[in-house]
This record gives sequence, C-alpha cells and structure tokens, in this order.
Amino acid sequence: MKLNINNTFTSHLPADPIENNFVRQVPNACFSYVKPTSPKNPSLIHTSDELTDALGINKEDVSNEEFLNVFSGKTVYKNTKPYAMCYGGHQFGNWAGQLGDGRAINLFEISQNDTQWALQLKGAGKTPYSRNADGLAVLRSSIREYLCSEAMYHLGVATTRALSICLTGDVVLRDMLYDGQAAFEKGAIVCRVAPSFVRFGNFEILAAQGDVDTLKKLTDYTITNFYPEIDLNKGVDAYVEFYKSVMEKTLKMIIEWQRVGFVHGVMNTDNMSILGLTIDYGPYGWLENYDPNWTPNTTDAEKKRYRFGNQSHVALWNLVQLANALFPLIGDVKILEGILAIYQKKYAALHIEMMLNKLGINEYTEESSVVIKDLKHLLEDSEVDYTLFFRKLIDFAPESPQTFLDVLPQTSYSNNFALHAGKWSKWLELYAKILVQEQDSLRKLKMKKVNPKYVLRNYMAQLAIDAADKGDYSVLKELFELLKAPYHEQPDMQKWFALRPDWAKEKIGCSQLSCSS
Ligand code: AMP
Ligand code: MG
Repeated sequence: MKLNINNTFTSHLPADPIENNFVRQVPNACFSYVKPTSPKNPSLIHTSDELTDALGINKEDVSNEEFLNVFSGKTVYKNTKPYAMCYGGHQFGNWAGQLGDGRAINLFEISQNDTQWALQLKGAGKTPYSRNADGLAVLRSSIREYLCSEAMYHLGVATTRALSICLTGDVVLRDMLYDGQAAFEKGAIVCRVAPSFVRFGNFEILAAQGDVDTLKKLTDYTITNFYPEIDLNKGVDAYVEFYKSVMEKTLKMIIEWQRVGFVHGVMNTDNMSILGLTIDYGPYGWLENYDPNWTPNTTDAEKKRYRFGNQSHVALWNLVQLANALFPLIGDVKILEGILAIYQKKYAALHIEMMLNKLGINEYTEESSVVIKDLKHLLEDSEVDYTLFFRKLIDFAPESPQTFLDVLPQTSYSNNFALHAGKWSKWLELYAKILVQEQDSLRKLKMKKVNPKYVLRNYMAQLAIDAADKGDYSVLKELFELLKAPYHEQPDMQKWFALRPDWAKEKIGCSQLSCSS
C-alpha cells in the first residue's frame, strides 16, 4: 500500500511535549502523540470501495494484511506518527473543560487528487484525553456510524465519512441502558475520513486557557488549509470572514438535516465540525412520524435540548460559543453579533426554501406559506411518516387531489387518521391549486432529488447490528448498497420503503438510544 502522506496538522501546530500515554490536562498544544492499542485478533468486516479509490488504495491493497493491520491499529504505517487532538466543549449547555479525542486516534493525512484527507480510528484505545473511560468502541455503535455517515454523504449532506470497519477480537464492557446491567460486547473500530476533524471545541479550549498565540496558529492553519478563499493578509477581516463562513456552513448543514429528517442527538460544541460536517454519530436518529419534539437520545429525554425542532437554535447557541472563542482574534462584539443576526435571517429564508423544494412549489406566496405552516401541524397531529409522505407526494395529481386521501393513511402511524381527514382534504385542495397555477413540468423530477426514498431508519441499523453480532454481515452490506442511491427507485428494495414495523416501536436501538457506545 503506497499512500501520499501529507501531515498538515502535526507539522503546523504545537504538540504536547509529553509522549507517554497517561490521562492529563494538556495546555498550550493542539494534540498529543499516542499509539493505537494493538487489538487481539482483528478482522475486516467491510470497506468502502469509493473511499479506497479516493484515497489511492487499490483493490489488492484492501485484501492485504497491511491494510487490516493499519486500519485496526495493529501496526503504525511507515513514517507516520499517530496523535489525539486536544479540544474542549460545552456539553448540554455547560462548559465541560478539556475533552479531546478520548477514543479517536488520528493516523495520518493523505493528499490525493488535490484533496486533503485525515484518517482516524475510532475505538483504538486510550489516549491522554480518555479521562476515566476505556478508549474503545463496540460493534453496534461502530455499525451505526459506518452506515450512517456514508448514507448521509449519498443523501448530499456534508459529513465525515467511513473507510472501513473491523472487529478487534477484544470484548468491551458496556452498561448499554445505564441500569447496572453491564455486559461484554464485541469491540470494533471504524476508520473515519474527513478533510479535517477540527471542531468548535478545538478553538474553545485554547481560548479558555487564554492561549491566544496557539489559538491564532490553529485559526490560521484552518483558514489556510480549508478556507483558502480567505486572504489571511487581511488580518482581523480574515478572521471575521472565517467566522462568517463557518456560520454559513453550519446553517446549511442544519437545513439539510431538516430536509432528510436527521436528528444528531448530541450537538455539544465538541461535536460541531469547523467545516460544517456532520460529525460524531452517537445516539442519532431519523424521524419516522414527523415530531419536532423527538430526540433519540435517552440522556436528553427530559429536557430534549437536541430535539429535531431545536437543532437550528442549538447550532446558533454553539456558534455563540465559537464567537466567544474567536473573540481574542476579532475583538469586536458588534461584528460577531451582526453575523449571528445574519444566521437568524438566513435560517428563516433557507428553511422556507427547503420546504418549498420538498413540496415542489416554486413561489413563496401567502398561499404557499399557509401550505407549509398547516402541513407541519397536520403531519404532527396525524403522525405521518416524514420520508414516506414526501416521497409519495411526488405522485400527487393536482387535477384530482382527493385521490391522495386514499394514499395518506398508508403513511400514518395514527389509529384515528380519519379524525384528520377533513383538514387534509382542505390542505390537499390548496396545495393542488398552487401546483395547477405553477404548471411546472419538472416538478416531479425536482422533488425526487430532494425527497429521499430510503433513509437509515433506526430499526434498519438495528437489524444490521443484530445480524452482525451473530457474524452475519449480509444486512449491513445490503443497507450499505441501498443507501448509496437513496433517491433512486430501486424496486427490488421496496421493503425498506415502508412504515417502521410495529415490533420496532419500543425496541432498544430502534427508537431511543443511550450515549453508551
Ligand atoms: P461524545 O459526546 O460521544 O462525542 O464524547 C464526548 C467525549 O467523551 C469525547 O472527548 C470523547 O472522546 C470521549 N469519549 C466517549 N466515549 C469514550 C470512551 N469509550 N473512551 C474514552 N473517551 C470517550
Ligand atoms: Mg464527540
């Protein structure tokens, strides 16, 4: 295996001078060198062909022992020096101090076809940032991250990606439900890939330490490598532009989550990518019935801070924390507040645009605004499946709107759908009126591009996990292939285009998830 190694992060930023692996506070540094823990008996479960291609790894390399050894942490690739990043974060609204890569170990960076990739193992053992945890990951959470990050990529949502997933051959003790019933589970490692894994928290920790020098170095590094359109020579203006770009990318990501019905579940500032990528797939979930108050994360069940309908507010709150962190470089509260005000304005406009796109409506008028507003209430009240509804709406016939009333109950989890039939009937009439007025011959085509047919419903991931736990990876492979083309009809895969089965409603992993991973 011959990789084009190009380590930008470690070559430009200050390292922790200590190289021994013990838990500690790490001041004035962006990372600590640390080697992965060698797994007992690693075996490869799956790799992404697309990513091996993108990284310049050929097919023969993948079946070589070296590939398994490097991407399971058994051996360190020649002339590279793995490391864990230092970051802090606000968790559930409170400053948590130093967090850092507690169980992620960055292997190296690759420059391939003018694209920069950082590769990191998740679950490869303890680091100086592991605090009181073990640095490991279990098979169930690894499968969830592996499948979902690739699914998001193919949905067109900015995300980190996944190159490979393997078993370590070790067992890991987890109390999955936090009820004192700890059990051993199979250990696994995902190799994650992204241009950069830098988070809001990397900036926050340096600001909290009052280390403006390193903060400036990290910001300059991020701009030079990932925001090349910004001219660093502009000084303070460059930092303002940078902050504005991060705001815009973050906003776009949130709108995309809303479009596809994704709930991140743990939007702490340490889980916010500085590139606006969806990062750290933990207790995430997908909307089934449209419910803005839904969160998949059991840890957040009471306050629901990270519920579907609150993600745009939380992103703004997180951007305020980033503004505080960058303040020493910008020194002007008014400018930062101005950018946060733009977020709010733009969010309102982009959200409407996204909803209009999903509905196949071009013009924002008084009538279409009523259609959006009423639809949200109707979807919620009649417990309609978000994905099924919008996909089936593509075939809506505006000439005979009432026929859709026969289709609608098939998209609902509610036993008393009939109660809402009258309101739906009125809604369909108004919607039909708009479509007839607009006469857009491309409507169906456009709607198919924004309304996915297949998403990774929680029970689907759970089926892949249950089979994989028994050594059967067929469901994982099937879902991996299915989710490569989420907007395509794929008639052979119709069974995945259906309401969540009843058995999955209350089953652990299918609806609610804990942070245990
Ligand atoms: P999360 O919210 O899951 O992204 O994790 C928050 C922090 O806890 C991060 O600093 C993680 O690296 C750390 N962490 C989570 N799980 C583990 C683990 N099993 N071992 C060590 N650190 C962990
Ligand atoms: Mg995290």
